Amino acid sequence: SPEPNDLGAWWMPFTANRAFRAKPRLLAGAEGMHYTTPDGRRVLDGIAGLWCCNAGHNRAPIVAAIRAQAGALDYAPPFQFGHPGAFALASRLAHLAPGDLDRVFLCGSGSEAVDTALKIALAYWQARGEGRRTRLIGRERGYHGVGFGGISVGGLSANRKAFGSLLPGVDHLPHTYDRERQAFTLGEPDWGAERADELERIVALHDASTIAAVIVEPMAGSTGVLPPPKGYLERLRAICDRHGLLLVFDEVITGFGRLGHAFAAERYGVVPDMICFAKGVTSGTVPMGGVLVREPIHAALMQGPTHVVELFHGYTYSGHPLACAAALATLDLYRDEDLFTRARALEVGFGQAVMSLKGLPNVLDIRTVGLAAGIDLAPKPGAPGLRGFEAMDRAFDAGLVLRAAGDTLALTPPLIASEDEIGRMVGITGDAIRAVA
Ligand code: PMP
Repeated sequence: SPEPNDLGAWWMPFTANRAFRAKPRLLAGAEGMHYTTPDGRRVLDGIAGLWCCNAGHNRAPIVAAIRAQAGALDYAPPFQFGHPGAFALASRLAHLAPGDLDRVFLCGSGSEAVDTALKIALAYWQARGEGRRTRLIGRERGYHGVGFGGISVGGLSANRKAFGSLLPGVDHLPHTYDRERQAFTLGEPDWGAERADELERIVALHDASTIAAVIVEPMAGSTGVLPPPKGYLERLRAICDRHGLLLVFDEVITGFGRLGHAFAAERYGVVPDMICFAKGVTSGTVPMGGVLVREPIHAALMQGPTHVVELFHGYTYSGHPLACAAALATLDLYRDEDLFTRARALEVGFGQAVMSLKGLPNVLDIRTVGLAAGIDLAPKPGAPGLRGFEAMDRAFDAGLVLRAAGDTLALTPPLIASEDEIGRMVGITGDAIRAVA
């Protein structure tokens, strides 16, 4: 079993899960596709930091932009003041986003982005004189960060139980994964419409005019890489339109190239009313999150009745100059190296390489989409999460960072990965799986 954490004062992100109690493996440097350990060992980064370093590590143009910004303007208040970088970034993001998602609220993380989107939904309905619309709908196996709003709509029931679902009325769509029907199939499963119709069932339980918004990840990431079944997101959009509900995509993971496009909304041809983003916007360098919002929502809120205008929401670090500089340089790099297209070009080969692990001991299912793969391992009897944790450990010793979410291994490499590096990642992952059989 892993050693208990004995790092003195540092309290890591906490859960009772044993994987989080183990002493962390220290990373001292990074460049491109690799981390280096304090003793100088190079380790391939198979998870782009934490689904965020999409352009790879310590990329020179991003580092230079952060340095230059730090020496020019360290901070500017986002209330009543601004700075050129925030305006430039907002307009770049609005151009990248589909449809009329033309307004950008900036904040510091994915969790803040989710809480912000939920608040925008509630404030919008108040501005429209439909303040009865307060109910929110999330999805089982959804992950929306760790704010109380994100926990409430999120699909991790232990978190909801421990911290309480504090929002006034929240329902959860069932998740879309079905191992029996789907195991080891490349591409989208085909029961999307059927699963999305669960939204009709939930709407029928309540008066539709009490529901504010539906929030889903287009592809559930942290809970195991669960691609949407074919037609699912389109049908959710249609049902939201029928009942006048706002549809929010949490693209904290899927944004900025993970699925081969700037946003998954583009890949699936569905335009939501809001998109939450974070992580890849700065390629993991300086913390930043945000919400892209359709223009009519922004307009209704900003021109709404005074009591709504006096609602307050915003963060000290909204549009932080260092984060804006990092994001602008990151977006330039994505464009100059055409990294979203590159992810699309690598997708089939990546998927086939990962699928070659089918048939290894304890591998129950593998799902891949874009440059993301989830590999489910059978848990060790009486010790859920241990096999995944041990596989991660073995892989690290053999030169690869992969992620274990319980007994599901995730591979989500930076978009700059070469075919050879993908091959090595899959090879090490396979060896690790065999080693923990
Ligand atoms: N939403 C999704 C879909 C995420 O994957 C995450 C983080 N993994 C979050 C929100 C929360 O982001 P953060 O950790 O930056 O608060």
